[in-house]
Amino acid sequence: MQSKQNIGRSDKWVEATKPWFCDVHCHPTDPAADPDREGLLRRAWEADVRVVVATAYDLSSCVEVLELATKSRFVAAALGYHPWFIPGSPDELATLLSHPKVVALGEIGLDSKVERPVSDQLVVLEWQLGMALDLDLPVVLHCRGAGGELLAALKRHRGIRGVLHGFPYEAPAAAPFLALGLHFSLSGLLTLEGDNRVKRLAAALPPDRLLLESDAPALPVAGVPKHGTEPAHLPAIFRALCGLRPEAPEVLAELLLENSARALGPRLGPIVQEAAGQP
Ligand SMILES: [Zn+2]
Repeated sequence: MQSKQNIGRSDKWVEATKPWFCDVHCHPTDPAADPDREGLLRRAWEADVRVVVATAYDLSSCVEVLELATKSRFVAAALGYHPWFIPGSPDELATLLSHPKVVALGEIGLDSKVERPVSDQLVVLEWQLGMALDLDLPVVLHCRGAGGELLAALKRHRGIRGVLHGFPYEAPAAAPFLALGLHFSLSGLLTLEGDNRVKRLAAALPPDRLLLESDAPALPVAGVPKHGTEPAHLPAIFRALCGLRPEAPEVLAELLLENSARALGPRLGPIVQEAAGQP
C-alpha cells in the first residue's frame, strides 16, 4: 500500500511513502512491560510505529517517562496523576511538564471501580484540568464508571481539549464528549472476539476523532499473551479498525496521523516531523 501523507494540512508536516502509525497511549515504564525498553522501541519502529506517546500515571513514572522521551527521538511524553495512584504535588508536576518532549497532561481521570473515593479523585482531576488549560496542553483521560462526574468536570474547564482513552462505552455515551471536541483512542479490544461494544463505538465515531493506542502492556491484543501488548501491535489494531470503517485503509492511515497531530499538537508536531524524515 503506497500513499503520500500530508498531516496538519496547512503545515505540510509529513511526506511519507507508506503508512506509518502514532501510538498515542502506552506505558513502556509499567513494571509489566518488557524491561528491555530499547528492544521494545526497536520492535515498534520496525512495525512502522514512528511516534510513541509514553504515558505516566504517578510521580515516579513521570520521571521515568520523561527520561525515556529524552533518550529516544520518536518518544513523546504525557505526564500526569492517574486516579488509581497516590498523586504527587502540583508543583512537581508543573516543573516536569515544562520539558519540550511533553505533549499532554495525562493519564488523568475518574474511576468508580477502585477503592479511592471518586470525590478524592475529583480534587486531583480538577487541579490537573486547570493546569492543562494554564499550560495550553491537551489532556489524556481515563474514564470508568464516573462518566457524568467527568463530563461535569470537563464542562467546568471551558476550552479543555484532548483524548479519551480506552473508553468502554457505546456511541450514545460518547456523544457529549464528542460535543466537547474530544478525540477517542481505540485499542486492541478491537481485535478480540466477544464483547462488541468497542467495535460498535469504533464504527460510529466521526472519522476526524479516531486515534490508535496500544495502552501497552495493559490492554489485550488477540493472539498476544497477557501483558505482552506492545506499541509494535498497533498495525494489528489498525487492521481491525479497517474492518469496521468505510474509509479505504490508506485514507484511514492518513486520517489517524492527522488526528494525532491535531489532538496532541502543537508540541507533537516537531516530533512527528522528525519521525517522518527518518528512513
Ligand atoms: Zn493507560
